[in-house]
Amino acid sequence: MPAVDNIVEIRDLAFSYGAHEIFKSVSLTIPRGKVVGIMGASGSGKSTLLRLIGAQLRPSRGSVRVLGENIHELDRNDLYRMRRKMGMQFQQGGLFTDLSVFENIAFQMREKTDLPEDMINDLVLMKLNAVGLRGAAKLMPSECSGGMARRVGLARAIALDPDLIMYDEPFAGLDPISCNVVGKLIRRLNDALGVTSVVVSYDAQESLRCIDYVYFLADGKVVAQGSTEDVKKSEDPFVRQFIGGLPDGPVPFHYRQNAYAADLDLPA
Ligand code: ADP
Ligand code: MG
Repeated sequence: MPAVDNIVEIRDLAFSYGAHEIFKSVSLTIPRGKVVGIMGASGSGKSTLLRLIGAQLRPSRGSVRVLGENIHELDRNDLYRMRRKMGMQFQQGGLFTDLSVFENIAFQMREKTDLPEDMINDLVLMKLNAVGLRGAAKLMPSECSGGMARRVGLARAIALDPDLIMYDEPFAGLDPISCNVVGKLIRRLNDALGVTSVVVSYDAQESLRCIDYVYFLADGKVVAQGSTEDVKKSEDPFVRQFIGGLPDGPVPFHYRQNAYAADLDLPA
């Protein structure tokens, strides 16, 4: 396959869950080798966007190209082949609680490759070493701290040597030190493995430490974007609200709702 400059290219993407419109028109590009952030409030559709990139969901309009191929036009075999090139760290960690740390990572290697067991052993230890947890191979997930479990998730995301790693809220629920460790790991894995990373997060402070470029999602669109440096200096009210964590601004505090009077059954 010819090398492409953009690992992901999304053009005019629209998507709804039933009548609930999530994306009106989203266009964005994830260039090779970069760590790109996708930020937005909870419910803005960040996890949905990752599912559209992984073709777990289909758009109602527009295109998603991954490594140069329109992911929603691939047949089953080609889609599976493509999914193996994408490593995913899930929002909820998603470790198998009844499998050890080692087995959690070995699982998809056994499922998706024909590698002999001794090679799987070496590869799992290599992945764990990359996240600093080789010594934790025998632990059960219940014996791992939140930060460790997140790192096991990172090791699992890189298990099959993906070209693209997608992280869904990698910092959520972590203490500041673990956040820092995870952020540094995202950066280090990206650069050392020569991959491309997407970090989906509502946490601007943490994300901005490890990313190169960021897109802000709101109202079903990209409302702002820029390099990390530019965004930190930006005067854009949305960006300011987001980075400052301000309750008031372009992002409304209230979930979409009826007029108060109507809900209270008062005359308007
Ligand atoms: P984020 O990750 O930015 O918090 P999500 O992509 O999870 O946002 O969700 C975007 C919106 O879509 C939310 O309002 C959510 O309630 C809704 N949603 C998410 N998944 C589904 C689903 N499977 N069916 C219907 N609505 C959904
Ligand atoms: Mg989400």
